[in-house]
This record gives sequence, C-alpha cells and structure tokens, in this order.
Amino acid sequence: MPHYTYLIVGGGMTGDAAIHGIREVDRNGSIGLIGAELHPPYNRPPLSKGLWKGDPLESIWPQTDNQGVTCHLGRTAWHLEPQHKRVTDDQGTVYTFDKLLLATGVTPQRLPFGGEEILYFRTLDDYQRLLALMEQGRRFAVIGGGFIGSEVAAALAMNGKKVVMAFPEAGIGSRVFRHRNAPGQAGPENPQRANPERAGRHGRRRGGGTRREAQRRSRPGGWAHGGQRHSCGCVPVHQPPGHIRGGGCGQFS
Ligand SMILES: Cc1cc2nc3c(=O)[nH]c(=O)nc-3n(C[C@H](O)[C@H](O)[C@H](O)COP(=O)(O)OP(=O)(O)OC[C@H]3O[C@@H](n4cnc5c(N)ncnc54)[C@H](O)[C@@H]3O)c2cc1C
Repeated sequence: MPHYTYLIVGGGMTGDAAIHGIREVDRNGSIGLIGAELHPPYNRPPLSKGLWKGDPLESIWPQTDNQGVTCHLGRTAWHLEPQHKRVTDDQGTVYTFDKLLLATGVTPQRLPFGGEEILYFRTLDDYQRLLALMEQGRRFAVIGGGFIGSEVAAALAMNGKKVVMAFPEAGIGSRVFRHRNAPGQAGPENPQRANPERAGRHGRRRGGGTRREAQRRSRPGGWAHGGQRHSCGCVPVHQPPGHIRGGGCGQFS
C-alpha cells in the first residue's frame, strides 16, 4: 500500500503547480500523484495556440519529472475515506496519505447528441486526434464560442480548413465580454438582462424558461449540470457515488 506525505489526485496544471509549491517548502517529503490521463502533467494552453503555430510538442511539459514525484498514471481515484486518510483507485490500489490535494479540474459539458462523433477538446489526446482529423477533413464545425472554441476555429482556419462555428450567444466571447453589451446580452445598457430581478417575476427571456432558469444559464458552468453549486463556486459534474470528481477546486485537507 503506497504511502505519501503528500498525495495529489489529478495530473493537470494545478497538480503540477502544487508539486512545485511543495518542493519550495519541503525538499524531501514523498509526493504521489494519481492521474486519470496517461500523460504526466502538461500545459493545456498550447493545445489550442502555440502547437498550431509551430511550437514543438516538448514545449508543453513542465519540469515535473525532476521533482521526485511518483506518478500513478491512467488511474482514476475512485473512493476517498478521509477519516482513514485513504484513497482507492479504479484498479483497486489503496493509497494512504498525510495530506491530500484534490485537483481534479473540470470536464467539458457533454451534448445530448453526437456521442463519440463529437470531439470534446480538452486534453493532449484530443489535440492529437484533431491533428489527425485535420489531415483528412476540409470542413469542420466548432460548437462553442468561448476562448477554446474560437482558438480551435482559428487554428483550423489558419491551416486552410473551412470552419463553421455554432454557439447560443450573440457573438464570440460574449460570456466573457458581457459588459460590452453585445446585442441581446446582459450589460449596463440592457438592464433587464444585466439584472434579472428587473425583468419581472415571471418574465420570459431569450432561450425560453423562467427567470430562475435564465439566472442559472447565465452562470458559467450552471447550464447543463443541474448539480448543486459548492460554496466555493464549484459544480460537481456527473458524479457517481463515491467517485472523486471535483469542479475546479484544489484544497489540502
Ligand atoms: C485547450 C485549452 C486552452 C486553454 N488556454 C488557456 C489560456 O490560454 N489561459 C488560461 O488561463 N487558461 C487556459 N485554459 C484553461 C486551463 O488550462 C485550465 O484552467 C487548467 O488546465 C486547469 O487545470 P487543473 O489542473 O485545475 O484541471 P484540469 O486541467 O481539468 O486537470 C485535472 C486533471 O485531473 C484528472 N482527474 C480528474 N478526476 C480524476 C480522478 N478522480 N482521479 C485521477 N485523475 C483525475 C483529469 O483527467 C485531468 O488530467 C485552457 C484550457 C484548454 C483545455
């Protein structure tokens, strides 16, 4: 049964930052990392930016491997028993710890259609799959008009592909640049959308539904989960009982 002074669940950028932070204050404490992906931690931003402009794949790796960390990759932490300081992964391995960090990040919202035909762009494997698809296809549809959707669309267009984007807002990046008051979006010149309270008790709005539904839609991440929001602002995403799946929070217990 592996025991670690510090056990990190999640091999993303938060997990990597935690490793470097720990090493600044503790050179010798043992660190174990459980990561569902087969890769050690890597930087995600280049997946939709630099790699499409010629940056080498090697540029995505932070220096995690020289920090004296034992990585358990391709494993999903499945069960946490805080009272016994114990985590069990999907292969039945039990880990014990002195301190635990849950750095399980987020997963993209899944659409109710398309199944595996749709590539949900988030990981290094997704980047490599899209690269392979780019060799075969001429026309691409990108669903989502936020940072990642618009960056991926630009990357494909830069590579000579025809791209159609689909998103429910009035313009690219509307959820982020809401205050600029794009037509139909919340903003200071559009008080009913900026403050749903003013829209009337049973007011209907774009996209249909009641005021409460519209308020939920207007919160990032509040759209498809229907889950309960934590006090830290996180939303559990598709969380089977006992399955460790955070919503972007990382905290040592
Ligand atoms: C393509 C792309 C481009 C981006 N560009 C930018 C940018 O330019 N600027 C910016 O600020 N941000 C950007 N972001 C967002 C940024 O990358 C994320 O905020 C950051 O990666 C979050 O890191 P994280 O480690 O908290 O979570 P995640 O990246 O979600 O990593 C969590 C990891 O934990 C693993 N995991 C989950 N559950 C378990 C479990 N039970 N057991 C084991 N492992 C588990 C997951 O597989 C995943 O590897 C971008 C994101 C993407 C996808």
